[in-house]
Amino acid sequence: MANKSRPPTKPSPTLAITDSDGNHIHNEILLGLPPKERETLFSKLEFVRLKTRLVLHESGDTLKSAYFPSSGLVSILSVFPDGKSVEVGLVGKEGFIGLPLVAGFRTAPTRAIAQIEGSAFRVEGETLMAVLPQCPKLERRLQQFVQVMAMQTTQIAACNRLHEVNERLARWLLMSADRIGSNSVPLTQELIAQMLGTRRSSVTVAAGTLQKAGLITYTRGDVKIIDRQKLEEAACECYEIMQRQIEEWQGEAE
Ligand SMILES: [Zn+2]
Repeated sequence: MANKSRPPTKPSPTLAITDSDGNHIHNEILLGLPPKERETLFSKLEFVRLKTRLVLHESGDTLKSAYFPSSGLVSILSVFPDGKSVEVGLVGKEGFIGLPLVAGFRTAPTRAIAQIEGSAFRVEGETLMAVLPQCPKLERRLQQFVQVMAMQTTQIAACNRLHEVNERLARWLLMSADRIGSNSVPLTQELIAQMLGTRRSSVTVAAGTLQKAGLITYTRGDVKIIDRQKLEEAACECYEIMQRQIEEWQGEAE
């Protein structure tokens, strides 16, 4: 179990960087690009609002667009024919939506849905594929993010099978808070249950346990982290395993 707080990712540069329309960019992949690649890519980006429940792509869709989230939280869901779904990944400002395009694939194997409203920079899938050969740093960062998401999905699959709902709820709240950069996670228990692939009543009991222990408070549509360190202790080891791997890779990245 985690025994100390650590930042989830490298701190973003403090200088405000904007697109050609003056929209502030907080996406860490875009912020990490050298000037020449920014010049190539930024003029092709479109600033879009991600309203809650907006589906960025459905499982089986042709990927017309890719997204660099700048704020908010996007869930990656595995969807079954009977309509059931479970979350297999979370993406915020550290990431990218549309990873199959990086390998030249055009079909989405999962659903990507905005769970917490925010904004993103959208690029046409064909445009992205055309600029990648001119943007080696971008291509590298996207390939690295493919690995991050594969690692995260593997860990979450094991977590969903092996760990108790209390631990999974704590793990999920920490991951969400890291990605939105806030200790207040504006989501209903019903949505949290959907994402954890469990019953709402189980989430209510788990949230009640965490609240009674003084780790969180929840009201309808909002969960607040009160004691982050104790919440890390209450989470299964999956949170720490994923954080440690991301940090190791960040240290190894060119
Ligand atoms: Zn776990």
